[in-house]
Amino acid sequence: MNEQDILEQFVREARKIWGNAVDNLNIKVRIGDNINPNKNYANASLEHPSNITHQAIGSSLMRTSKNLTLQIHPRALNLPSDKFRGVLRHEALHIGYNRHDKDFRALAEKLGIPVSFGHEGVVKIQEQQGKGKRYITVATAKDEKEGERIALDLFRKNRTKGYRYRLEW
Ligand SMILES: [Zn+2]
Repeated sequence: MNEQDILEQFVREARKIWGNAVDNLNIKVRIGDNINPNKNYANASLEHPSNITHQAIGSSLMRTSKNLTLQIHPRALNLPSDKFRGVLRHEALHIGYNRHDKDFRALAEKLGIPVSFGHEGVVKIQEQQGKGKRYITVATAKDEKEGERIALDLFRKNRTKGYRYRLEW
């Protein structure tokens, strides 16, 4: 499977989620192991050049970066085709939602798209030590449930400092 084949399959999956809005995007596919180092466990990653965070409401694409690059790790090409399709569908969801937040998860569940595909075993607990500051990873967990428990413990411990927490896959 080459980059052109993957692009065609990805666009097909993306259209099923977002409809014709996908046709306005300029999507590139790159196969390579130079995936974002924060996601070096991932099979794929959708890179946006901007920091827009909320781009969709449900399955309506409100705004997104016009230029998107789908990075595919070579190991993903060895996946069985149904799993590979799951990866593409997951990444297609990221056109509208950068993060695995609750809106992303709600739509994924509705459409039967795996949330943690390619991210198995790694849930990051991130801490923000004040409004406007960067979230930094302070712990990892094996799944969402454990991640929530750890985040809640940390939240209680640091309640008086006003720290905020989120989970990242
Ligand atoms: Zn993802």
